[in-house]
Amino acid sequence: MPVEIKAYSCEHGCGKFLKTRAVMIKHEARCLSDTANRTCKTCEYDFMDNGDFVCGADVDKNGHKIVKNCRSWVENGTGLDPQDKE
Ligand SMILES: [Zn+2]
Repeated sequence: MPVEIKAYSCEHGCGKFLKTRAVMIKHEARCLSDTANRTCKTCEYDFMDNGDFVCGADVDKNGHKIVKNCRSWVENGTGLDPQDKE
């Protein structure tokens, strides 16, 4: 029989569950879904092109999928559409 456990979910809505509050607090501080971390995941300029996530602001990701604390970050849904640029 499955055993019920207590777990904590991330306040930023990333879908993560952890068993201890302390570990979740650490996760939340670096969560890619937290707009305070200015990551590609919450950025207006992040879009999918042929299966790859591309930066519409032409930020060099240095081979990383997600950049944190990006200078060009614009909150998703509040900035310009990348297609409207140029
Ligand atoms: Zn999270």
